Amino acid sequence: MEQYIVSARKYRPTTFSSVVGQRALTGTLKNAIATDRLAHAYLFCGSRGIGKTSCARIFAKTINCANPTADGEACNECESCRSFNEGRSMNIVELDAASNNGIDDIREVIEMVQMPPTHGRYRVFIIDEVHMLSSAAFNAFLKTLEEPPSYVIFILATTEKHKIIPTILSRCQIYDFNRITVNDIAEHLASVAANEGISAERAALNVIARKADGAMRDALSIFDQVAASSKGNITYASTIANLNILDRSYYGRLLDAFVKGDVPAALLIYKEIRERGFDSLFFVNGLGQYLRDLMVAQNPATACLLEDADEVKAEMAAAAAKCPPQFLYRAMALCNDADLNYRAASNKQFLVELTLIKLCQSFSPSPSDGDNGEGQLKPIVTKQAEAAKETKADEIAKAAKIAKEADVAKVANIAKEATAATAPASTPASTVRPGRIPLPKISLRHGLVDEKAAANAAQNAADTVREKRTRAYSPEAVNTFWESYIQSHPSAKVIINTMRTAKPRQIGGDSYVMTVDSEIQSNVLKPALPEIVGYMRDRLQNDNFDIVVEINTGESSPMTWTEREVYNYMVKENQAFASFAEEFKLTLL
Ligand SMILES: [Zn+2]
Repeated sequence: MEQYIVSARKYRPTTFSSVVGQRALTGTLKNAIATDRLAHAYLFCGSRGIGKTSCARIFAKTINCANPTADGEACNECESCRSFNEGRSMNIVELDAASNNGIDDIREVIEMVQMPPTHGRYRVFIIDEVHMLSSAAFNAFLKTLEEPPSYVIFILATTEKHKIIPTILSRCQIYDFNRITVNDIAEHLASVAANEGISAERAALNVIARKADGAMRDALSIFDQVAASSKGNITYASTIANLNILDRSYYGRLLDAFVKGDVPAALLIYKEIRERGFDSLFFVNGLGQYLRDLMVAQNPATACLLEDADEVKAEMAAAAAKCPPQFLYRAMALCNDADLNYRAASNKQFLVELTLIKLCQSFSPSPSDGDNGEGQLKPIVTKQAEAAKETKADEIAKAAKIAKEADVAKVANIAKEATAATAPASTPASTVRPGRIPLPKISLRHGLVDEKAAANAAQNAADTVREKRTRAYSPEAVNTFWESYIQSHPSAKVIINTMRTAKPRQIGGDSYVMTVDSEIQSNVLKPALPEIVGYMRDRLQNDNFDIVVEINTGESSPMTWTEREVYNYMVKENQAFASFAEEFKLTLL
């Protein structure tokens, strides 16, 4: 009876040309061998299962081959090649540092290094997962690596290049292995299937390739698993059932619901998915990936980023044609938001349902349809707001340009306050309610900005123009990061105590207010505020996020002001803003 060998072993590559997905790299290695320019140490880097060890073995075999072929491959026939293929060559020594990382293990290797080859020219020492060596082992090894005997070649392999110390890196020729593409993996699986007499649909092989996430070894293992349960006929249906993968058609149906704004349909599809046993986070991520695929399929220039069979690409492009790009960007941000908030959410189903509702509403956002009550979710993205956003960007760009040429401090004020003044327009995806406007910034309310702060503001304004982070986030995320700031600054007792009692409250878009009880608290807090805001912006990945401090006086607060009142206040309090508003003819929408 024929012995069953798992595909990952049976189809392990034996020549450079049979290594999948690393063509450039194997070409360079072959060339080095052909021209006899060999280094004493190589470092192979890259994630697991992408051919590092296979390449190391092929390399060892090829440099010892007595009759290499014309295109630089091992002949697989000479005595040396046969001893390699049968696993009895003394010219290859493999050490898996993941399980043998002590000083005794490496001493054994160092001893073996002293022994010259009996056949062939080189002895090759492969040390896998070299970053796992203990530091004592590393030090013992360093000297040998520095001055190995002429017949020794080291091939070090690692999945974590950043853990390799510079002294090692500088002594090695470094090769970075690519993650193998879905297409390359699927093609290889097709040839394996043909060899094994198994029929396999290309769509099924694509699913397996995607699941393997760039690792051929994993792909072959999954292939074996699916082949075993599909009884020699691998279909798309049998594969997604076997691997518990959510069929793409669910996402297609959801997209239809989004296009129609059909909230009930979307919620029922989600129910169906849960009933089939799929995890909600898995679903959210799958949906995000689907939307991303739609986005890249939409544009011929980015279609190459869609790693899939041509018929799937065509199908995706057809579906994508239904969607304006703005919708896809928003939808991706919403999925990302749900992903980020998932762990913190106490009611995860609610979070996902809310996300689906927002997705249904964000296809053709318009303030006129839907419920206009308090519970309204619809993001207000009007044409006006979009236009204002563009105008604002232009203005800041202009201000930044002037800042370079003229009075830095003065223009910094203008640019900064322009941001404050038009903040609502810059937050299209949030739920800005009409009649509210974020408060002006601290610097404005207190009127005083020193020169240094102004210069910083100029820099900020320039940064704003360069690349402004505008990731969507939830109020929960604000609370979470607020809490994490408090946790990570235990010594700043007064500040964090104030932060505990004065939690930020959203007053519109990305503007938050914290209400403190006294002037004293406010004075303590103010110097720390830029750092806190910077921290929050970094965590939220959104540069529009801002906080103002308000002292609770019991009087009518600016929160209840109308836009006109805020505008008038800004004009009255700040000459620079007044002239800026005049120069660029700012008006309220
Ligand atoms: Zn040979």
